[in-house]
Amino acid sequence: MRIKFWGVRGSIPTPQPENQRYGGNTSCVEVRVGDSIFIFDCGTGFRTLGHQLQSEFKGRPILAHVFVSHFHWDHIQGIPFFRPLYDDSGNRFMFHSSSRTRSLRRVMDEQMASPYFPVAVTEMKARQDFYEVEPGPIQLGDVSVQVAWLNHPQGCLGFRMETKQGVLVYATDNEPGPAEFDKSVRKLAEGADVLIYDSQYLPEEYEAERRGWGHSHWREAVNVAMESGAKELVLYHHDPDHTDVCIDKVVQDARNYYPKVRAASEGMEIVLE
Ligand SMILES: [Zn+2]
Ligand SMILES: [Zn+2]
Repeated sequence: MRIKFWGVRGSIPTPQPENQRYGGNTSCVEVRVGDSIFIFDCGTGFRTLGHQLQSEFKGRPILAHVFVSHFHWDHIQGIPFFRPLYDDSGNRFMFHSSSRTRSLRRVMDEQMASPYFPVAVTEMKARQDFYEVEPGPIQLGDVSVQVAWLNHPQGCLGFRMETKQGVLVYATDNEPGPAEFDKSVRKLAEGADVLIYDSQYLPEEYEAERRGWGHSHWREAVNVAMESGAKELVLYHHDPDHTDVCIDKVVQDARNYYPKVRAASEGMEIVLE
């Protein structure tokens, strides 16, 4: 299993120089299991992933499963800029999301409606299949994906991907607090080889003025990793106002509690054999 980070920022892209080392694009993670492609979220990092896939496949059909955690901008903004969706030479994208708020098909249609975008969604000629996701397992060939609701305004889905090479958990946009959700995210992360987890805020920022905004902080991320027995923690969904220097300090502080922690950065890869 190869995991690659294409967008690690939360809320809004942040292309300022002081954020360049960790990266300014919003949520998108690619996972390869053998020849199969899995993608988690379609933030602005999704655009650069699209370019990379086109140059790698050189016109051969691209097939991918795309999991969309929820429809806040930072998780869908790359969709209209993902070039393989406009290509009808056999590309196929299987989208997995919940339609509890509305369907992803409708979200894409509205996202590209006039006057917000100059190209209609009907110009996306690649085959698109939309699958409704509920909490519980999904079997996709050799790979099993477990789904759970997280605690976030309008809801957000967390995913646990089990493969022969290991277990990856993608759990972003989750606020601690309600016992039911706290328990469920720990169950989702149980024994994971890699846990990608929302650590948008500093603990003190969260306490002072960010309660109820739907996000976590690095201290809670460490708690979730330790209490679930996850082997490695990847801090993710960095706050737009957190510079590289700030994130370096977060990693340093978090390592005082848990040694196997790092912060996601654009272009970072993790390989599980
Ligand atoms: Zn987000
Ligand atoms: Zn969100």
